[in-house]
Amino acid sequence: MGIVRYFRNILAGLWNLLVGLSVTTKYFFKGTTTQQYPEERLPLPVRSRSMIKLIYDDEKDQFNCVACLMCMKACPNSCIKLEGVRQADGKRRMTTFKLDFSTCIFCGYCVEACGFDALTFVSEEYENSVYKRGSLLQDEQAMKWVRPHSPAAEAAPIENTAPATAGAQS
Ligand code: SF4
Ligand code: SF4
Repeated sequence: MGIVRYFRNILAGLWNLLVGLSVTTKYFFKGTTTQQYPEERLPLPVRSRSMIKLIYDDEKDQFNCVACLMCMKACPNSCIKLEGVRQADGKRRMTTFKLDFSTCIFCGYCVEACGFDALTFVSEEYENSVYKRGSLLQDEQAMKWVRPHSPAAEAAPIENTAPATAGAQS
């Protein structure tokens, strides 16, 4: 019996070796999946929450924000502070907008609350590290974002599921 077990163990060892080698061979011929960051950058899905931006209409030369304060009220962490004025035409416009990203949890409530297409998540800006916490307080100029005019972007706009009630104070 001893000799039988001896050869059985040898065969079992050989089988396990072959199984291991087959896995190695399979991955050897597979394409690489790693990127040479930062030379190569992965395009993130459009719906990824990389950074929040204030949409700027370059045709009207103004931000879309009308200072309705809905985003400020919706924010659970009080990250947003903004002010606005009523213009001669009776419409309100934002004058200052500040978002403190050091306390923002990227929950998206502010984006959902905005009924004026003024706030959006932007997927391509995901390198958000800074050296000082104070640098995470961004104003309207730092958050300014112009929607690209490419056909692909227009065909697949970032969805805003804002409730219709947000347009009360225009
Ligand atoms: S994503 Fe959430 S936490 Fe950040 S500013 Fe908007 S509502 Fe506030
Ligand atoms: S909800 Fe939209 S329009 Fe209203 S203050 Fe916020 S960003 Fe401006």
